Amino acid sequence: MNLTPIVAGNWKMYKTPSEGASFIELTKNLLLDIEHVSVIFAPPFTGLFDLNVKPPFYSAAQNCHWEQTGAFTGEISVSMIRDCGAEFVIIGHSERRHVFGESDEWINRKVKAVLAGNMKPILCIGELLNQREAGQTELVLKSQLKQGLAGVEALENIVIAYEPVWAIGTGVTANANQVESAHSSVRNILKELYPESDTIHVLYGGSVKSGNAEELIQIPGVNGFLIGGASLDVESFASITRTVETVQLRTL
Ligand code: PEP
Repeated sequence: MNLTPIVAGNWKMYKTPSEGASFIELTKNLLLDIEHVSVIFAPPFTGLFDLNVKPPFYSAAQNCHWEQTGAFTGEISVSMIRDCGAEFVIIGHSERRHVFGESDEWINRKVKAVLAGNMKPILCIGELLNQREAGQTELVLKSQLKQGLAGVEALENIVIAYEPVWAIGTGVTANANQVESAHSSVRNILKELYPESDTIHVLYGGSVKSGNAEELIQIPGVNGFLIGGASLDVESFASITRTVETVQLRTL
């Protein structure tokens, strides 16, 4: 199954709305001829409203609450995000899990709320360094997938992002063997849970940059990237996207 790869930029808490809007215009201008990659921008909530994006460009929120409305000061619901024109919501990013203490149970509620709101969750999973060193990577991935997807009937609108926590924002990229083996575990776990799961995207994230994108995108099972640091720079982000497009064209 030859999926159209995804290149998603997670801006974290960077860029004001006006900086974000001009970043997107510049990036689109550098990528006018892109046809075989879906490009997702994930600005902070304040930068989501009324962005000028249409396929192959999309926007995403970095988080959401699972309730539609209510007394939840500081939170944003799925319908509010959808009304801004976004199509995706990143759920369970490692910073949400490990800095803000989000549990798998919360993550599961969010995944279900995003699907119920006719949007697409990008569910992030990944092991800590001590878990990898203890040989627990597969166990962690299985547990995060099982709990994160509990009660979800079909995977068709879900994107999974495998992001080893020790490779996020550290400049350390997982090597090709580590990425291939983790992606193969993710596929096997998904297959066990959902026999029809071949068509879903599994992205890699963790210090992806223009210098390593070509190697990483060719690893079996990698259907694109979730990018933090390098997504903040127009040239880097466009260059990674172009690399993914070029590699994808070779497979068509
Ligand atoms: C991320 O924030 O999801 C990420 C992968 O960050 P970086 O690319 O900076 O490692």
